[in-house]
Amino acid sequence: MRRHRYAKIVATVGPATNTPEMLKALFLAGVDTFRLNFSHGVQADHAKVHASIRALEKEVGRPIGILQDLQGPKIRVGTVRDGRLDLTSGERVRFVLEGSEGGKDAIPLHHPEIFAAVVPGQDLLIDDGRVRVRVVGVEAAVIEAEVITAGVISNRKGVNLPGTLLDLSPLTEKDRADLAFGLELGVDWVALSFVQKPSDVIEARGLIGDKAGIMTKVEKPQALDRIEDIIRLSDAVMVARGDLGVEIPHEDVPARQKELIRACRLAVKPVIVATQMLDSMVNAPAPTRAEASDVATAIYDGADAVMLSAESATGRYPVEAVSMMDRIIRSVEGHKLYHSIIAALEPGEEETPPHAVATATATLAEAIHATAIVAYTESGTTAARVARKRPAVPILALTPNVDTSRRLSLLWGAHSVRTDDVDSYEEMTAKACHHAQEEGFAKPNDIVVTAAGIPFHTTGNTNNIRLIQI
Ligand code: PGA
Ligand code: MN
Repeated sequence: MRRHRYAKIVATVGPATNTPEMLKALFLAGVDTFRLNFSHGVQADHAKVHASIRALEKEVGRPIGILQDLQGPKIRVGTVRDGRLDLTSGERVRFVLEGSEGGKDAIPLHHPEIFAAVVPGQDLLIDDGRVRVRVVGVEAAVIEAEVITAGVISNRKGVNLPGTLLDLSPLTEKDRADLAFGLELGVDWVALSFVQKPSDVIEARGLIGDKAGIMTKVEKPQALDRIEDIIRLSDAVMVARGDLGVEIPHEDVPARQKELIRACRLAVKPVIVATQMLDSMVNAPAPTRAEASDVATAIYDGADAVMLSAESATGRYPVEAVSMMDRIIRSVEGHKLYHSIIAALEPGEEETPPHAVATATATLAEAIHATAIVAYTESGTTAARVARKRPAVPILALTPNVDTSRRLSLLWGAHSVRTDDVDSYEEMTAKACHHAQEEGFAKPNDIVVTAAGIPFHTTGNTNNIRLIQI
């Protein structure tokens, strides 16, 4: 079973889609990786979905990626008097630490790190940025602020602090428990929310090791300040436009999206564009023109994958949203300008022999009209280096490693297949011919180009190209 598209689709599973039947319908409509959102639901339900996806994988005979998205240090207000507080602009409000005396209309905020870090002049945004207040005074347990954008604050609403670097671990107690649970289940990717600095990724790596790929969600301006190091330390990146668009102005998000995609492509790390891509499909069977254009833009920008959130988790039209995304991607990728646009965005490359070999593989395959590039890849690196060139030739990634085959379900252009281990060059060539035909990438007399690192069983060492006529 082969998909005729390069960019991948990630869909969030939720109450609308957590049954085996719906998961299968989403997969058939085009989902490559499923996201389990640990900001919602309980572990037992996520475990059921995980098991259903692994069963589906067996049934359809294709590797499917599973992304565990950790909640991270999401900040929320506590409970306010009468459950809601109507704020008018210019009014003064007080945020208080638990147990502190702040007067009847004080807003509880059980996060001491905030009281330690904020200074007058900084803003707190509440409820996805709907309400904005500006700090005018800070004491040990009280923050005094002035309302800039009026609105309602109700219980447990989220708080964003765009201008403040908080002394917070990216992993809360809940995240640590969820992470241990996810690694035990065998998720392929772990997404870290609200990463602020490179050491956040290092801290997570200490717990995750190589048991799963680490995907950093870029949703804080502080992360943008150190983005190159953060990308280098991560295995993949999500342009998390939901929170990012609260923390930085709306008008700056599109440019950041382009920069992040470019930086990830340069660093050979898969990058996902996420949030509100087809948002109106939560309630309607068709998207707006602007949403269709947004998905298309991410594809023209060169993203590896695009993601559905509420559209597939809680929406009324989850399967339709996936098919719509699939159709938009295929339309863009079939457009006569697509390959030239994406080639023009090529960010250059690291000047190392493995990169040069991967680049040459892509160029050669295009020049001779090969029907596929077969990347023999243990860690996935060889396939990712070839994909970085965004060649107009599909990439068949053969790997002896089942984890790699699943993780590659995020990578642009890669159709991954798990094979038995090979010990010799002849064996690899035979496998390349066999799978290229079996998976529908080549027929007799077609030419494929293989890329590999030899000797086998070492990783990251792309050093071999071969042209094979089937
Ligand atoms: P979330 O992350 O859906 O977990 O908030 C994505 C985003 O912020 O865009
Ligand atoms: Mn977020």
